[in-house]
Parts: sequence; structure tokens; C-alpha cells
Amino acid sequence: MRSNKIFKKLMALLLCLAMVLTVPGLHQLAYADEDYSDELADLNSQYDELKKQQDAVQQQINKASNDKAAALAKKRNLNNQISLTQDQIKVLEDKIAVLTESIAEKEEEISALEAEIAENYDQYKQRLVALYRAGNPTALGVVLGAGNFSDFLMQSEMLKRMAGHDQDLLDSLAADKADLEEKKAALSSEKEEQDASKTEVESLKSQLNNQLSQTNTQIHNISALEAELQADKAAFQKKMAAIQAEIDDIYSQIQSNGDYVGGVLAWPVPGFKTITSEFGWRFGGSDYHTGFDISGGGVNGKSIVAANSGTVAFVKYGTTGYGRYLIVDHGGGYTTLYAHCSEILVEVGDYVSRGEAIAKVGSTGWSTGPHLHFEVRVNGVAKNPRNYFNM
Ligand SMILES: [Zn+2]
Repeated sequence: MRSNKIFKKLMALLLCLAMVLTVPGLHQLAYADEDYSDELADLNSQYDELKKQQDAVQQQINKASNDKAAALAKKRNLNNQISLTQDQIKVLEDKIAVLTESIAEKEEEISALEAEIAENYDQYKQRLVALYRAGNPTALGVVLGAGNFSDFLMQSEMLKRMAGHDQDLLDSLAADKADLEEKKAALSSEKEEQDASKTEVESLKSQLNNQLSQTNTQIHNISALEAELQADKAAFQKKMAAIQAEIDDIYSQIQSNGDYVGGVLAWPVPGFKTITSEFGWRFGGSDYHTGFDISGGGVNGKSIVAANSGTVAFVKYGTTGYGRYLIVDHGGGYTTLYAHCSEILVEVGDYVSRGEAIAKVGSTGWSTGPHLHFEVRVNGVAKNPRNYFNM
């Protein structure tokens, strides 16, 4: 009697074991957790590190852009200065041209004056020689030599005129000499002014060329830096996309069993309706959000319920990326994902009913505050969860 009971119990146990072993889905799912856990942890940590690097690169790009904008503003100011200085240079060059003409004219005048002085001086010398040769050219000689008074008056008048002419010659020579000194002084001053203007023009030109060349070099360097950083950013985005693709691949390998249970999904965080981040592109197109985020005051530690009935297909206690998260398979390729949990209440292979508590809201992994990151995937492809709720 007693041995019969034990035999029946043993038979029942073996039957259970046989049933479990013949359900292929559960068997595979139990292995899936071990197979993917390390790989996903590694990928998530890589993704996290790359995301950090990308943020740093973005900051460098912003800084480079700011530097470039400042350099461009400086270049605009320099261009204004250059334009003003070019006007100054033009005025100076006009001045130099006028001075050149004036100097040439003065040099001509001076040489004419010098010729005149030389000629007058020659004339005067000849007069002196003539007077010397004529003997005593005094009034007495004239009186004594004159035949009568009329002659005398005539001769005396001539004498006066002669004396006057000599005096005029002397006066003219003196005036010419003074004029010459004045013109030479003016010429020298104009030449000095011209030289100073030329020096100023050269100095301004070299200063501007120097500044312009420096600014161009700066802009060239910043542009090169910016291009380099953009290339780095593109490379990082490529790596991140590759890692996301690997995660997607793991999703696609998660076995979905049976037909889709169907129906409208139950809201996964009862009492908290706020969606703080929608599905799709965000952060200006730099990040594709594969689910939506549910949050609200006091949400930390609140229950997360299964959005639909199904089998727990994947559980991970990660510290990066999605942190602690789980995936529930609803059949027909439909899965839901619950990320950043503080606690997970179920295990891989557990059957859960729609609305049943499966985890608690937290902020584990790559998260800035307590929230549920919720995903709906069909054959591993992320869908907008809004389309599966009555909302
Ligand atoms: Zn999220």
C-alpha cells in the first residue's frame, strides 16, 4: 500500500519532467538567459562608454563651432579695419602723388632760380669789370667830363640809372637767393612728409597682412579641427548603430511561442500616465528612442505589471544600458520590454497574466531618474507602444 503510493508519486514526477522536457520553448528560453546575459552586459557597457565619448565629442564640436564663430567675427572686424586702412592708404598715396608733383615743380623752380641767379651774377660781375675799365665812375668825373650842364644832367641821369640798375641787380640777386632758400626748405619738408607717409603706408600694409594671415590660419585650423571631430562623431554613431543592431539581433533570436494572445495592452505602471519621452527620433535626431518612458512624482518602487499575458523570455540584472530589465513574450513574435527596474519579481520561463505585477520602477542602468522604459517589439522590431493601448 505504502510502496504503491510512492510509486504513484514517482510516476507523477517523471510525467511532469517529461512534459517540461517536451516543451521546446521553455527549454530554449532557460538557456537564452545564460547565452545572452554576458554578451548583452558587454554590449551595454560598450554602448554606454561610446555614448559618453560621443557626448564629449559633441561638446568639442560645440566648442570648435563657438571658436570658429568668434574667429569669423574677429575676421569680419579685421576686414572692416582693413577696408578703413585701405582708405587711409589710398589718401596717403594720393598725398604722396601730390607731393611728388609739387616736389618736381619746386625742383624745376629751384634750378630756374639758380640759373637766373648765376646769370644775374655774371651780368653784375661784367658791370663791375666795365666800370673798373672806365676809370673813376664818380659824379665828379661826369661833371668834369661833361661839356655843358645839359650834358652833365644827361650824364648824371645816366649815372643814376646805371647805379639804379646795379642796385636792382643786387636786390634781385638777394631776393632770388632768399626765394631759393625758402623753396629748398619747402622742398626738403615736403620730401620728409612724403617719406613719412610712405613709411606709414608700408607699416600699415605689413600689419594688416600679418593680422589677415593669422586669422586665416586660425580659421583654417578650426575648420580642420571641426571636420576631424565631425568624422569622429560619424565613426562613433556608426559603432553605436552596430551595437544597437547586435541588441536587435538578440531580440530577434528570442523564441516566441504560440499565437499572439491579442487584445489591448494593460497600462504597465498603474496610476502613472505621464509619458516623459516619446517613441522615435529625439535629441535633434541624434538618438532613436525604441520605446517610451513612463514617469511621475512618487513613481519609484511602484509596481510594473505585464502589459499582456505571456511567458518571461529574458531577464537581466545589468548595471549599464537598460539596467535591470525583462522581456515578456506574448506569442506570434510579440514581446514587451520593461527597463531600469529596481526589482524584478519573475524569472525566465514564468507565465504571467495581463496586469500581474512583474517588477518595480527604478533607475538602474543608463537612466537619469526613476522611470519605466517600455518597449513593444514585433519580431524584434521596435513599434510605437501608443498604437497598442486604448489612449
Ligand atoms: Zn526610454
